[in-house]
Amino acid sequence: MGLPKKKTTSSSSKSRRSHHALNKGALSTCKKCKSPVRPHHACAKCGTYRGREVIDVLSKKEKGKKKTKKSTKKTDKEKETKKDNKKK
Ligand SMILES: [Zn+2]
Repeated sequence: MGLPKKKTTSSSSKSRRSHHALNKGALSTCKKCKSPVRPHHACAKCGTYRGREVIDVLSKKEKGKKKTKKSTKKTDKEKETKKDNKKK
């Protein structure tokens, strides 16, 4: 097995690793909502790709809202009951 003849200095290893940095990658803007989008990917905000709607984003949002609505309704009812108790 080959063995290194000399110890690599910290500066030489650092200079070797100077090219190892990762770049951020190209980002394009959505034509519809003008938010940053990865190239060749559908927009996550409006669900369009090349001006055509691919993902139904609104229905997904509604699904998420339903869960939150239930929790808010409960809190409203609880508040009302608390108020009633105070009145009595
Ligand atoms: Zn968009």
